[in-house]
Amino acid sequence: MAKVALAIHGGCGVMAQLDLSDAEWTAAREDLARSLKAGWTVLSAGGSALDAVEAAVVVMEDSPHFNAGHGAALNENGVHELDASIMDGTTLAAGAVSAARSIRNPVKAARAVMEKGDAVLLTGGAADQFAEKTGLAVEPQAYFTTERRVKALAAMKAHEASGTAAAAKESEKHGTVGAVALDASGHLAAATSTGGYNNKPDGRVGDSPIIGAGTYARDGVCAVSGTGKGEFFIRHVVGHEIASRMAYLNESLEAASDKVIHQDLKPHQIGAGLVAVAADGSIAAPYNTDGMFRGWVTTEGEIFVATHDQVFQLETFPA
Ligand code: ASP
Repeated sequence: MAKVALAIHGGCGVMAQLDLSDAEWTAAREDLARSLKAGWTVLSAGGSALDAVEAAVVVMEDSPHFNAGHGAALNENGVHELDASIMDGTTLAAGAVSAARSIRNPVKAARAVMEKGDAVLLTGGAADQFAEKTGLAVEPQAYFTTERRVKALAAMKAHEASGTAAAAKESEKHGTVGAVALDASGHLAAATSTGGYNNKPDGRVGDSPIIGAGTYARDGVCAVSGTGKGEFFIRHVVGHEIASRMAYLNESLEAASDKVIHQDLKPHQIGAGLVAVAADGSIAAPYNTDGMFRGWVTTEGEIFVATHDQVFQLETFPA
């Protein structure tokens, strides 16, 4: 089989290791492994990178462990507004939705936007209506809510009231899910989905649905999906910046992504991370927080998942 590779993240808003039980960390790693399995099943059957990243992201949107779909963050009004995008590195076709309130799997809506018309990005009620008309599942707001996010919103409101928002834990603030893949035909794709950050302003749109910022893919170069305070990913056009450094400066994937996460974003003192795959199948997953939910399958078929420093190699995917 030609080389294929896959990497995913479940956001850099990971709690301190001691804040959750071993059983909860194991459950989160299992969901990462299930996401990898969904993407890898597509790639190993000769399927497209686009189908693989969509399949991997859907699993994390459906999991309560990550800030996307079910388990998404709440905005300042206690409302879920969901952002997602997907990009095809072959044609540079892309689709996105932002501030959607009812789409069960926003990444599927992003894919439908990409495939069904001229628009790259549909927003708000129009995105919800488009998804429903397309036949995608829609849900009441309550479907997206988990106890953890309700508590995180209360914690952020308390920080706001006492002027200590900057001291909030990364896990109280944000999270995102994303996937990048190289398929057997040498094509690259990236997808990202998020509830944004807890207590975000009504109508705020982050980097995840912004092509070039939170999501980017270009065949022959790399595919990138980011997580972290989106405003800075937009300002630094992170995904495109990494691809440009590789294309114009001939930097490796690792050097280009480390430069952006550890140097360019450093002065802003924000939590940030990403996963990326290059055209040769190499993978990078830098982050500057305590941890980042992440996993990858190498071109050799080796499977890894991690939440903090320790990286676990799995013998096989979960049943
Ligand atoms: N990038 C996301 C946003 O700003 C949040 C995150 O990844 O933590 O909407």
